[in-house]
Amino acid sequence: MEVPDSETIARRVQSVLSAIRQTVEKAGRPADAVKLVAATKTVTVERIREGLGAGLSILGENRVQEAIPKIRALEDAPVRWHFIGQLQRRKVRSIMGLFELIHSVDSLELAQEIDRRAAEAGLVQEVLLEVNVGGETTKAGFHPDALEAVVPAMARLPHIRIKGLMTIPPPTQEAEGARIYFQKLRSLRDAIAARNVPGVVMQELSMGMSNDYRVAIEEGATLVRVGSAIFGARRG
Ligand SMILES: *Cc1c(COP(=O)(O)O)cnc(C)c1O
Repeated sequence: MEVPDSETIARRVQSVLSAIRQTVEKAGRPADAVKLVAATKTVTVERIREGLGAGLSILGENRVQEAIPKIRALEDAPVRWHFIGQLQRRKVRSIMGLFELIHSVDSLELAQEIDRRAAEAGLVQEVLLEVNVGGETTKAGFHPDALEAVVPAMARLPHIRIKGLMTIPPPTQEAEGARIYFQKLRSLRDAIAARNVPGVVMQELSMGMSNDYRVAIEEGATLVRVGSAIFGARRG
């Protein structure tokens, strides 16, 4: 649904939060089952502050260089930061301690680097594994078949904690088109959870963006990542 430009960020935050509430309720899920992660790439600190004033509390950033100055500028605000973009191994050290959750771990090598840097920093980093549910050749993320071997290997890394899965489905015309991919992520999550790998929690499903977060919530999302429905279309 297109949000008219005249609407303020505050109005849009309220409308997304209320759509989440309604969808959660209709799906018969607990009221606190879904958290909104506002995707703030290219959004200025001033506009982010408007969103925080209207009820945002978790912000998702995609790029390390862009995120670090924003995190500094918003140190006074009650914000939790999530990293949702592709993360390069050489940048891991510079973000240790800044992000509550990294949604986008897409290789064992990246997990090993996070583990190493988290150990140096004396912390345990919570992560999600990004899954390429559509099997697209151009997209980051683990192939669904790779998870069975990767999860136990990662679970042995003492300074990361796997909390669940994340996906960006292939683009579809209608939000409904994404449903099968959300169902797939959920069934992968449930299959991993059923194996009871020590140290693996598997409670989170990060799925759904501006166009399809309602469908994602119906299919079990616990974290929805919404950008343009709050901040308007991105330029460039
Ligand atoms: C930009 C982005 C989003 C939000 O996309 P919108 O369509 O603007 O809601 C969600 N997840 C990731 C990983 C993103 O990069």
